[in-house]
Amino acid sequence: MEVLLTADQIHARVRELAADIRRQYAGQPFTVVGILTGSLVFLADLIRQIELPLRIGLIEASSYRGTATSAGTLVVQDSLLPDVAGRHLLLMDDILDTGRTISTLVEHMKHRGAASVRTCVLLRKIGRQQVEFEPDYTGFSIPDKFVVGYGLDFDDDYRHLPFIGVLPDGHA
Ligand code: 5GP
Ligand code: MG
Repeated sequence: MEVLLTADQIHARVRELAADIRRQYAGQPFTVVGILTGSLVFLADLIRQIELPLRIGLIEASSYRGTATSAGTLVVQDSLLPDVAGRHLLLMDDILDTGRTISTLVEHMKHRGAASVRTCVLLRKIGRQQVEFEPDYTGFSIPDKFVVGYGLDFDDDYRHLPFIGVLPDGHA
């Protein structure tokens, strides 16, 4: 498998992101909300570098393929989410592709009464976005290839890899 980002590169960037986030939220209690399942590894590494008191929430968003003419529906499952009313939130995802998932979830959090919502993505695919959206924190911009590892899956496999790789043709 082609390695796009090594474990060392990821850890160095996660440390930088954590330092930026620490400056933003110092003195302001906040909740890190991870989008399941892809953000789990990133979330676990990031929260241990932020060095501020924080709470954790989880939310699931699954997208079901639509017909040729519809974009498909995003189903949000938030039974694992604690009460976020009045809280400052940092919403995290593994990858920003079309932008539909994270922008929908930002609106969802606002409807639940969050005091503020910032966003953090590990990866952002170049040239794929369909929804206008700027994340507050981005780890890496990557080319338009299907990537796995560090939480990202293909058919629920490969999430445990410590690096980010591109599957050989025919496997994705
Ligand atoms: P969006 O809603 O921005 O189009 O898609 C975001 C979601 O699509 C991510 O949370 C992730 O689950 C999935 N996704 C998009 N691109 C990739 C990719 O290259 N690899 C993997 N494993 N998942 C991806
Ligand atoms: Mg995902």
